[in-house]
Order: sequence, then C-alpha cells, then structure tokens
Amino acid sequence: MTCYCDSKKEFSECCEPFLKNRSKPSTTEQLMRSRYSAYVLGDGYYIVKTTVKENRFEDDVELIEEYAKSVVWLGLEVLHVEDNIVEFKAYYKD
Ligand SMILES: [Zn+2]
Repeated sequence: MTCYCDSKKEFSECCEPFLKNRSKPSTTEQLMRSRYSAYVLGDGYYIVKTTVKENRFEDDVELIEEYAKSVVWLGLEVLHVEDNIVEFKAYYKD
C-alpha cells in the first residue's frame, strides 16, 4: 500500500520503518512525513517521542490519540523544503 504521507512510495519503504522504530528519519522532511503518518494511524507515542524534549509530556499520548482519531485525515502536501525547515499543509476534516 502507498504511504499515508502521500509520498507515493510504499508504506514499508517510507514511514513504516520509522513508526516501527526500525530506523530513524535522516531528514526533516522524513520526520515530518512520519509524524503525519503517525497522526493518521493515531500513534500518540510516536508523536510524543519525536517532539522536542522541552515540549514533551508523556501524558499527551492519550490526548494526541484522541485528537488524531477524532478527525479524518485527508492528505499531506509538502510545499517547500529548505535546510531544516519544511513547509507543509496537512488536510483533515473535523
Ligand atoms: Zn510516508
């Protein structure tokens, strides 16, 4: 199946290895895409794990999962990638 992040790649060759902790994203874009896929899958642990330490609260896992499952994820569009900044649009329906 194609990946949730709209990369047009296979899930198993895109975000899955990151979500399953088999490898780590090497670019900001990969990280951002994998976080989007984690939202689609309702994987709160991955979201918290990949949040910068200062903003990380383990209690957020449940809240994130609740939120992620309360909306319909429609797609991801990467607009611009430069150094460590990724500009993107995530589409979802409330
Ligand atoms: Zn992906």
